[in-house]
Amino acid sequence: MRKPVIAGNWKLHKTIPEALELIEALKKDLADKTDIDIVVAPVFTALAPTAQSLKGSPIALAAQNCYFENSGAFTGEVSPALLKDAGCSHVIVGHSERRQLFGETDELINHKIKAVLAEGLTPIFCIGETLEERESDAMMDVLKRQVTVGLNGLNEAQMLNVVVAYEPVWAIGTGKVASTDQAQEAHAFIRGLLAGLFSTSIAEQVRILYGGSVKPDNVDGLMAQTDIDGTLVGGASLKAADFIRIARFE
Ligand code: PGA
Repeated sequence: MRKPVIAGNWKLHKTIPEALELIEALKKDLADKTDIDIVVAPVFTALAPTAQSLKGSPIALAAQNCYFENSGAFTGEVSPALLKDAGCSHVIVGHSERRQLFGETDELINHKIKAVLAEGLTPIFCIGETLEERESDAMMDVLKRQVTVGLNGLNEAQMLNVVVAYEPVWAIGTGKVASTDQAQEAHAFIRGLLAGLFSTSIAEQVRILYGGSVKPDNVDGLMAQTDIDGTLVGGASLKAADFIRIARFE
């Protein structure tokens, strides 16, 4: 019932010509793939040209971050309104690299999610525990705090427009994918949290993606899990063949 989402997070990679080259390959091979939502997230500078290239394609465009104010004296920031203007329909919010390297807090992420929703865009809201948190049995507390604070104040209609991405920090860029059991366990737990915060019906409808070393050779096992509704792909989204295979999971 939940439409899968396959999203590529290109991080700090690809010039405008390189982005357009990758988009050409994806457009050609994924034109028929309308049974899933495909999203790509290039760097800010490549967003507008990529949006032009994606006109008429079912592939959606995401930014990797945003600020929560729409305009004003905020040197260096980009707002949801401007991202919409550039052609984005989605924004990745709260990625672990933003949390760890740029000090983003759950409260800040909550402001960003609300700003993205207010602009009619879809936040891809990232959560996940570090290795230390997992090994000290704090995983569930951490996920609960991230979900509760990150989604604080949203109503049910807004929640339906949020895509959640569970990305265990220890699996990001490390080649160490969570086992299908570990991922399913975390996803079921997160869905339970959503049921408690909103309702069972909302929890059943929200898409929860897995991210962290997703590759062509592990995507099928992950996507076979009951509560995994898609993937947020970093490294493997930079190569057309790999991302296409991931989007064509079996
Ligand atoms: P990875 O990154 O696929 O390279 O592990 C995932 C992410 O950070 O979204």
